[in-house]
Amino acid sequence: MAVHDEVQTTSGRLNPWEMAQAQFTAAADRLKLSDDLRAILSEPKRELIVHFPVRMDNGSIRMFTGFRVQHNVNRGPAKGGIRYDAHVTLDEVKALAMWMTWKCAVVDIPYGGAKGGVICNPKALSNAELERLTRRYATEISLVIGPHSDIPAPDVNTNPQVMAWIMDTYSMHAGYTVPAVVTGKPLAIGGSEGRVEATATGVAAMIEMAARDMQMPLEGARVAVQGFGNAGSIAAKLLHKKGCRVVAVSDTGGGVYDERGLDPDKVLLHKQEHGTVVGYPGAQTVSIEGVLEVPCDILIPAATENQLTGRNAPKVQARLIAEAANGPTTPEADRIFFARGARVIPDILANAAGVTVSYFEWVQDLQSFFWTSDQIAEKLSHVMTQAYGEVSALAQRERCDMRLAAYMLAISRVANATQLRGVYP
Ligand code: NAD
Repeated sequence: MAVHDEVQTTSGRLNPWEMAQAQFTAAADRLKLSDDLRAILSEPKRELIVHFPVRMDNGSIRMFTGFRVQHNVNRGPAKGGIRYDAHVTLDEVKALAMWMTWKCAVVDIPYGGAKGGVICNPKALSNAELERLTRRYATEISLVIGPHSDIPAPDVNTNPQVMAWIMDTYSMHAGYTVPAVVTGKPLAIGGSEGRVEATATGVAAMIEMAARDMQMPLEGARVAVQGFGNAGSIAAKLLHKKGCRVVAVSDTGGGVYDERGLDPDKVLLHKQEHGTVVGYPGAQTVSIEGVLEVPCDILIPAATENQLTGRNAPKVQARLIAEAANGPTTPEADRIFFARGARVIPDILANAAGVTVSYFEWVQDLQSFFWTSDQIAEKLSHVMTQAYGEVSALAQRERCDMRLAAYMLAISRVANATQLRGVYP
């Protein structure tokens, strides 16, 4: 595992695919996985790259590049979000697709893993340009997506409206409405109760269970959140309601800190008005990196990959780190946290409530019968409690961190399905 964790891309960032491979190898070693299964599980099943034209508002044509990667489908259709970002790479999407395979397996929902992305800066596009880009990208990847093959969902910089456009585009080609082709849709067109807040609900529930195990009272616990978007802002609100003190939050503009505690609802209003949390009245401004290092008990990385590294991990003060984001911690940082007794609830467990409620949405769409928010909350709580219990019991048995335990559980489930199905032909 050691050799991979400081692999750099040309942009200076760690390569997420190398990181995903290192995490897989560590768990495969511990499981004594056969060479055949390692070979199968360590590569994606499909990698689709599309280059497509979009007409801009000024009449000009611009070419965009997008990806859809399916890592593994042995336990069911591929499932995973679509992100719009100027820095998306194929390696990042491959890593995210692999992480989705493990995530669906760790919470034991019948899906494989996938991910998609388009290289673009959505903030620089008008709504009409975003719609045309989305519809064309959906058309290009309709070669591989479908309600029984690969079901996209929102991720960074995509939202229910983008999902509605994808669903509509796919349905136009099919000639009839296919709600189950994407999840994270608006309620009015087959979305599910509880989807928008699902990821954060799961993160908060995981923090509650881990804090209980660690005998850390939530009342007054200091929380720092990196990334004040869907996952981060709602997690901050939920923890604030549970009595935590949210002392720091950040977004791409920078961070704010107040040791007396911030009111997440008011910070969100400020962000909506000014486009960033920075400048929130009465709070101290801190740098993007600084938010990870403020005095706190609980840290929630809820932005992007590669945020907690060998470089800054020694300065992180939190005892509990709950990964709302995918891939925020490098293997080197993991080792540093484990050595000093800080607990990391790994992404594939901590943020799995998002895909779990996506699964509920898909089931409801397929059966055309919808559940109430109470029914969703109850089913979600059952899945998350079960998964947390299984992972923490395995971590104790194996005397390892929760990431390795979660990977071992997930990989053994996918390996079992792969073995049972056999190698075709
Ligand atoms: P989002 O676009 O709603 O929010 C992302 C936030 O992070 C934004 O506020 C952005 O300004 C901020 N950000 C980006 N880079 C940053 C940086 N370096 N420092 C500080 N802030 C930064 O996205 P989201 O849906 O909340 O997703 C956030 C993370 O959670 C991603 O890693 C995503 O893959 C993961 N995730 C999301 C869901 C979900 O259901 N939304 C589910 C599982 C995992």
